[in-house]
Amino acid sequence: LLSKLPDVGTSIFSVMTQLAQETGAINLAQGFPDYDPPRPLLEALARQVLTPGHQQYAPMPGLPRLRDAIAAKTARLYGHLPDPATDITITSGATEALYAVLAAVVRPGDEVLILEPAYDLYGPAVRLQGGVPVYVPLQLPDFRPDWDQVAAALTPRTRLLMINSPHNPTGAVLTPEDLDTLAALLRNTDTLLLSDEVYEHMVFDEARHSSVVGHPELRERAFVLSSFGKTYHATGWKVGYCVAPAALSAELRRVHQFVTFSVSTPTQHALADVLPLTELYDELPAFYQQKRDLFRELLAPTALRLLPVQGGYFQVADFSVLAPSVSDEDFARRLTRETGVAVVPLSAFYHNRQDHHLVRFCFAKQESTLRAAAERLARLG
Ligand code: PMP
Ligand code: GLN
Repeated sequence: LLSKLPDVGTSIFSVMTQLAQETGAINLAQGFPDYDPPRPLLEALARQVLTPGHQQYAPMPGLPRLRDAIAAKTARLYGHLPDPATDITITSGATEALYAVLAAVVRPGDEVLILEPAYDLYGPAVRLQGGVPVYVPLQLPDFRPDWDQVAAALTPRTRLLMINSPHNPTGAVLTPEDLDTLAALLRNTDTLLLSDEVYEHMVFDEARHSSVVGHPELRERAFVLSSFGKTYHATGWKVGYCVAPAALSAELRRVHQFVTFSVSTPTQHALADVLPLTELYDELPAFYQQKRDLFRELLAPTALRLLPVQGGYFQVADFSVLAPSVSDEDFARRLTRETGVAVVPLSAFYHNRQDHHLVRFCFAKQESTLRAAAERLARLG
């Protein structure tokens, strides 16, 4: 059988979670919280599951009342009211949205700019469409984009640029000035923008999330994605959405209708019930900043060097003092097996092997889990 992705193995998130389960390691590898969604959301789902008539297909673009609630939330946070009828599509997680956007717009031979490190599906999903990923490196230590390099990589064949803020895995956050610079870069091009904003509510130190939806020029060419899995500690629910102008949303829906058609009906009703409870997301920056600060404080005495984290729920650490000649993949396996803490090697976010010494920890965990992991990591010296 001729594979379409011969060089791609099983996703690192599955691999490390399985290794953590086999070895009894604390899983700080795959990004998911070890606490439950807010009570009102769980109660809403229980109620909605028991409501007669809520068990059949939802409308293809998503339940109207959930799209209305997303439109209202978007206006409240980012000052732009998308039209729920034409501009918002509910997807099976941001994962499906990413895939469907790429399938909708990338034609064979099209170039897609990806800032690297990048979430592991970006490159392979581009290639599955016959697209050509063009990688622009983000630079240590803060992993900010070098917009001159992005400009240099833009060509008339660049169909799409993918950005992700707050960033997985590095926690870098784009500023309003970044978006202005980007708008100027794209101004006289036909290049579309995909903005992956699944960590929109995890931005720290009084900074605010700069959503592309809030940028009048950029949003005209953009697909903006978010995920209820991140916002409501419910990664297993697999519901996300895309906000895009009507013409772009129409292209996305052409694909979405053939990928999943629609998303779980009672789940959408439950989310629509709680979206107006603004406190559930307004409190997230402080909630996650506290976890970031605690985790950094706990790891400070170790020989791991912690890189800055402005947003998201991951901490990147440099282990070169501990194991200068060990690859990050080997170090991640050793840390899981021998120290009992599972992490993700940063190489998993690059299309080719890196000679850095970086691993990623997920700090979306209860305080007791973070403390238990830190106790194990303290043994590293
Ligand atoms: N984009 C990024 C940057 C992510 O970190 C994730 C989740 N790990 C996703 C997309 C996928 O989101 P979902 O779980 O809603 O499919
Ligand atoms: N987004 C999560 C992460 O970065 C994992 C998602 C998945 O397992 N596919 O860890």
